[in-house]
Amino acid sequence: MLTYVITLVALAGFGAPVAAQPRAPFSVGSTSVPAGQRVDLDLAVPPGATDGPTRVPVTVFHGVAPGPVLALTAGVHGYEFVPILAAQRLLARIDPQTLHGTVVLVRLAHVEAFEQRVPYVNPFDRKNLNRVFPGRPDGTQAERIAWAITTEIIRRSDLHVELHGGDGAEWMEPFAGPYGGPLAAAQYAQARTMALAFGFRNVITYEMKTQAQVDSGRSLNRQAVADGKPTVLVEIGQNGQRDVASIEALVAGLENLLKTLTMTGGAPTPPRDDTRWFTGSAEATATTTGIFTPVATTGRAVTKGQLIGTVTDYAGREIERIVSPVDGYVMYGLAGPPVRAGEAVVTIGIPPRN
Ligand SMILES: [Zn+2]
Repeated sequence: MLTYVITLVALAGFGAPVAAQPRAPFSVGSTSVPAGQRVDLDLAVPPGATDGPTRVPVTVFHGVAPGPVLALTAGVHGYEFVPILAAQRLLARIDPQTLHGTVVLVRLAHVEAFEQRVPYVNPFDRKNLNRVFPGRPDGTQAERIAWAITTEIIRRSDLHVELHGGDGAEWMEPFAGPYGGPLAAAQYAQARTMALAFGFRNVITYEMKTQAQVDSGRSLNRQAVADGKPTVLVEIGQNGQRDVASIEALVAGLENLLKTLTMTGGAPTPPRDDTRWFTGSAEATATTTGIFTPVATTGRAVTKGQLIGTVTDYAGREIERIVSPVDGYVMYGLAGPPVRAGEAVVTIGIPPRN
């Protein structure tokens, strides 16, 4: 279906006369959106056995002309504010009267986590929404939110971009992450094009090699892989901050993505020629619980064995020195100070093997 849609766009070209036949409406939940209109709606998430109802605020921009259905999802983690605020800013930047295709913008996937200022997990079931896809219609709240997004957003879209950032106590250097590997091979070329449209220096290709990798603790990106959609992870912002420069960089990236997909007019900025490529990532993990002090909280190259940070107990005694398990580029990590045994303190991009 995707190939067919993109062929249509290529044939029509942006700015070509729109066909006389109006496009069919696009539906999300119980809401039908006519061509050429923007509709803000709440996807209802009904109550469960142990927790209450919630909603997923979504905006549909259903363009006047044919084109792909692009899903943009923000706020799966409710304490990652840069994507959530970028989604707000994007609202005024898309005109369905000139748009080719359809943008389905999930403005805030995890309302309860946002309103209660809870990083990582759902405040009621304590589950990480980004590990419970596809979810269940009769599960706990995180699982029911996941089910609504899977069935009403991902499976109704052709392309997907998942917007994250550093969570409550995480520093982060921005990156884009197209999904590839044998299980997403057919979708990779499109995902790669989409990832490069953001203009970030760092690009990590997530190689999906086994079905278990797609299935265990399934994230929203992996759900899109399972449903056969080209999908990209975009990470920008850090430490639960409202960082205007990062918000603007993300909005600029999203606007360039729309141009690159010929959903909006104007020449896109081409991919930068100094992209740093990584093939997957590794983690350095704490084996003790206590107070973590990182060596640095910025992106940087590291070598295997290089010190990443230390853990002290609550009496101030050093109990662990954490070192990098690989050569690579430290992309994001824990700013600290709390750390528990078994937690990753940094994620390290692995350069491709030559
Ligand atoms: Zn996140």
